[in-house]
Amino acid sequence: MDNTLLWQSVLSSLQQKVSKPNIVTWFSNTSIKKKREGEILLSVPNIFVREWLQNKFEGDLLSSFRQFSPEVNKIKYFIARNQPSNNKTANKQQMSMGLDLSQAKIEFHQNKISGLNPRYNFQNFIVGDFNQLAAACANSIVKNSKSQSANKTGELLYNPFFVYSKVGLGKTHLIEAIGNEIIKARQKKKVKYIPCPNFTSQIVSAIRNQSIEKVIEIYKSFDVLIVDDIEFIAGKEKTQEVFFRVFNDLVENGGQIILSSDRPPRAIEKIEERIRSRFEGGMVVDISLPEFEERLAILEQKLEEKNIILPKEILEFIVRNIKKNIRELEGALIKSIVLFEEEKSVDGVKKALKDIIEEPKKRISPEKIIEKVCDFYDVSKKEILSKSRKKEFVFPRQVTMYLLREETGLSLPSIGVKIGNKDHTTVGYACSKLEEKSKKDGEFIKDLEVIKERIYNN
Ligand code: ADP
Ligand code: MG
Repeated sequence: MDNTLLWQSVLSSLQQKVSKPNIVTWFSNTSIKKKREGEILLSVPNIFVREWLQNKFEGDLLSSFRQFSPEVNKIKYFIARNQPSNNKTANKQQMSMGLDLSQAKIEFHQNKISGLNPRYNFQNFIVGDFNQLAAACANSIVKNSKSQSANKTGELLYNPFFVYSKVGLGKTHLIEAIGNEIIKARQKKKVKYIPCPNFTSQIVSAIRNQSIEKVIEIYKSFDVLIVDDIEFIAGKEKTQEVFFRVFNDLVENGGQIILSSDRPPRAIEKIEERIRSRFEGGMVVDISLPEFEERLAILEQKLEEKNIILPKEILEFIVRNIKKNIRELEGALIKSIVLFEEEKSVDGVKKALKDIIEEPKKRISPEKIIEKVCDFYDVSKKEILSKSRKKEFVFPRQVTMYLLREETGLSLPSIGVKIGNKDHTTVGYACSKLEEKSKKDGEFIKDLEVIKERIYNN
């Protein structure tokens, strides 16, 4: 594979883990300059991007590289010279150095033995309703591991601990933090963190070198085994077999297993039933989306860490616009810090941020909305479009009108036409009623999320 193709493949695989706006922000003007054995030399436009890639994406990048080129084990960076070097760029570079280099030394390097990145801990992990249960479990696992030696055969409470969420919501942070905290508490525990794609490529090369039994023995010797993004095990039969053996042995001997995934066990296809049932036999917990206040708290704590102050208006602007991904939230924050330093104006920053945060809404057809609402409430299209005033039809009909308004921006009269020639005042009434409801009624808010998810995702 030549370098251009390799880089394209890596970036497109990265899109499973990293959102589009993040890719656009951080990977424009990057390329592979050189590849020698396990080492990749990446060309990046400036120091700022280099720091950000090293800090935030190195793990994901390595796993993506290994899918195409299993020997890759190191990424180095090259700052391309032919970038315009006007004052602004220079400023940006200085700024970002002041910003991050203090943390750089501790942040960049994974621990060679455990594979853990020391920057993830409980102190810098914000807990709110959205991740409360996951955080509580994580805490008790650490506590439990302290008292455990006295009670060696004691069953572990959460084994495996299986945490899932969409990308960028703190799974890696949380499970690595558990590892770091256990090591902090008891130096002697053997903790291993490994992303699943790396685990898989280890198995592949062990098979090639006929050292698979050795590898299994090593894994059996850990007290705590943390496998990130376990959904990658799907369809990898040999890895599943090895994992199953390691899993059973560890659990029998009082070891703790910690797993993360982008979906719950039942939604992982192509895994053996015996493995799925092991996953489900432990503690399965999800992390949902942080609310406005929680997102704000996260940004405030990130600023505090860096000892930087930004106008509240900027923070609120970011938080209002980025709702689904904490990594993106952080990305926008860092960008704002640099921009604010340059521009010194809140509006300037807001304007500049607009490009990265406004994900253009996919165009959605009214038919699709009607169809998905019908599915959800289990009524037929005919019933929704009819004049019937039966309660079981009126409510889904109102939801349809509301979603048509919210998601397509159609005018009230045209929504009326689409929904079976209703008057625009009827539509207006439905929209304002449900808008109120969508602010207060928790059940309804969840229902709306499900419906929208279906509208946008299939
Ligand atoms: P995931 O593994 O779910 O894709 P990560 O753990 O990589 O997500 O989190 C993405 C970024 O957001 C990381 O930089 C992480 O430190 C940060 N982050 C996630 N959750 C929190 C939280 N609750 N408090 C503080 N920072 C968080
Ligand atoms: Mg992760």
